[in-house]
Amino acid sequence: MPALFPTTIAGSLPKPEWLAPPGQLWAPWLLDGEALAAGKRDAVRLAVCDQEHAGIDIVSDGEQTRRHFVTTLIENLEGVDFEHRRTVRIRNRYDADVPVVVGPVARRGPVFVEDAKFLRSTTERRIKYTLPGPMTMVDTLYDAHYVSREKLAWAFAEILNDEARAIAAAGVDVLQFDEPAFNVYFDEVRDWGVAALERAAQGLSCLTAVHICYGYGIKANIEWKRSLGGQWRQYEHTFPLLARSTIDQVSLECANSHVPLELIGLLQGKDVLVGAIDVATDRVESAEEVAATIRAALAFVPAERVYPCTNCGMVPLSRDVARAKLGALGAGARLVRGELGG
Ligand code: ZN
Repeated sequence: MPALFPTTIAGSLPKPEWLAPPGQLWAPWLLDGEALAAGKRDAVRLAVCDQEHAGIDIVSDGEQTRRHFVTTLIENLEGVDFEHRRTVRIRNRYDADVPVVVGPVARRGPVFVEDAKFLRSTTERRIKYTLPGPMTMVDTLYDAHYVSREKLAWAFAEILNDEARAIAAAGVDVLQFDEPAFNVYFDEVRDWGVAALERAAQGLSCLTAVHICYGYGIKANIEWKRSLGGQWRQYEHTFPLLARSTIDQVSLECANSHVPLELIGLLQGKDVLVGAIDVATDRVESAEEVAATIRAALAFVPAERVYPCTNCGMVPLSRDVARAKLGALGAGARLVRGELGG
């Protein structure tokens, strides 16, 4: 791994079109049984290969083995009814028919541990694995049992910690929790969100990260972003709390967003995964544009703490576009490394 600016991605990559139809969230699997299991492994191999060729240093499985970054985990838990759905508003932004919490939530057994072991077997590079954060899990469900977002979040945090410890033991270098809900519910983030996240990450043997963002480039998110004004200062609420937390790394959106970059200066003492690839457009960044984002971050974060990254998951993009963006990320980091002799 290079001494400076090791690159990584926020999480997902598009799946091969023989595995799931492209361009949709919650896309159905096109294979089943043993063919599906083999297809997922092949898709992970391709995702790793693409990242390695692009010069990504800390690689992920591109979430090739799950339909959705939150629901696939919850489908494997006790206490949630997926058949009798209720309509709720997700992150105050769009309505969705969601599963219902009908009893105490519990983990039946490992969910992603075999997938993490497989990822470990495919590459010599450092690897990252992603899980949803407790608050974001709460925000995708109708809760008819705990009737308390906080209590449900603590129950999820304990489940996540069991799963995360088992994943870390498979040889994972970075365990990242995705908490886009942290950009919406500031009072809850302060009152219990960061504490629940720390509980989920408690005692892990690997590095821990949290990813906060403004979402995929889907219509509801684009409209929400228009309502946020000229400067997006949401991170101003959460970063001071995260700076005092036990989490090692913070992944955020910087490229082509309205986030004032000085806000990353609030993350003192943390590694900063600087989003230098916009996932809400098909336009592919040039290496020079990526380099410019990295250089801009250096005004606020020491070089040894900067990890060039994507703004968010790339699952809604085409594979060609995602591959080109990975290439730009790797090339942009190399440019700045060359300038600083890293
Ligand atoms: Zn994201």
